[in-house]
Amino acid sequence: MSGTGDGRRPTMDTAVLEFVRRRTETTRVEIARELGVTAATVTNSVKRLLTAGLLWESGHARSTGGKRATLLRVDDSARRALGCTIDEDRLSLVAVDTTGALQARVVLPLQDAKDPIEVTDRLQEGLAALVPGDELGAMTGIGFAMPDRLPGDVARALEELTVALDVRSVRGKESTCAALGSFWSGEQSGSGFSGTLHLGSTMSLALLLDGIPFRPDSGHPLDHLRIAPEGRLCHCGRRGCLHLEAAPSGIADLTRTALAAAQGDEAAQDAVMAAALPLTRVAANLAIALGLDTMVLAGSPTQAAPGIYLDAARQHFGDDATTRVVVSQVQPHPCAVGAAVLALQTFLTSVER
Ligand SMILES: [Zn+2]
Repeated sequence: MSGTGDGRRPTMDTAVLEFVRRRTETTRVEIARELGVTAATVTNSVKRLLTAGLLWESGHARSTGGKRATLLRVDDSARRALGCTIDEDRLSLVAVDTTGALQARVVLPLQDAKDPIEVTDRLQEGLAALVPGDELGAMTGIGFAMPDRLPGDVARALEELTVALDVRSVRGKESTCAALGSFWSGEQSGSGFSGTLHLGSTMSLALLLDGIPFRPDSGHPLDHLRIAPEGRLCHCGRRGCLHLEAAPSGIADLTRTALAAAQGDEAAQDAVMAAALPLTRVAANLAIALGLDTMVLAGSPTQAAPGIYLDAARQHFGDDATTRVVVSQVQPHPCAVGAAVLALQTFLTSVER
């Protein structure tokens, strides 16, 4: 992928743009105060964002005595970014505007997510459905939420396709994208420390500090966290690993069970609760250890049966917990929305260089 996939650091322009987006409407003075930077820094950054057409001046604040401050807003029609994620059985593609709001989406079935030809064919199909061919070059870029277990040749094929289409691309960890998708969809408060425990190709945790990924490319899968010493034997040679307790027959199967549970199937409800309890115990321990303001549970099983996961979480977090627990309900897929946000964050402010 042609983007700067590793070691991304939010620039001042990105921070300003995100702050304005969160507030809907704000002033330079407020930005400087809230971001803790000088007025000159904000003035320069706003100037660049106005020139790039990403912000616009929407009027004047009420007078507080002196000169009335100019109000700033994000121009939501300015640009669009794409986000893509690949699950075992489907490819999800979304388009978002500059504010991160979902504009269009398409979900295409996959027979074999490990087949580079099928995956790139589906991606081209999705792109054709979402973006007229002559507008592809005007897109800000495409973000890919990369499953931990995506084969190298699929990743290479995706990169080659985006290069051939002349679309800038960036990739991020699946869990980081799920966290960004949740944050930008308004599921978390605008500031604070949040963790997103994502059930995808692996179980992993992503951290956001005031909406910005904290060490976005680090973090190990939690699958082999040993939580039940007397539990089932894992292929890693040990017993009671998290994935065996929290998704005993895999994520795709757990999702099917969760969908049945949501339809009222009692045996399925019991099975999902049995899987949700160990997962939410780990989530509660992580939240307490890290002092999280919000803990987001994301991934297709939790999204299919949010009530069961919240019930399970309540047993571990308690009623007076300082951590707010959220089950992500971003449609069609938090990772796809978050991957598009990653593309916005990576490319928006470098467009007019
Ligand atoms: Zn194991």
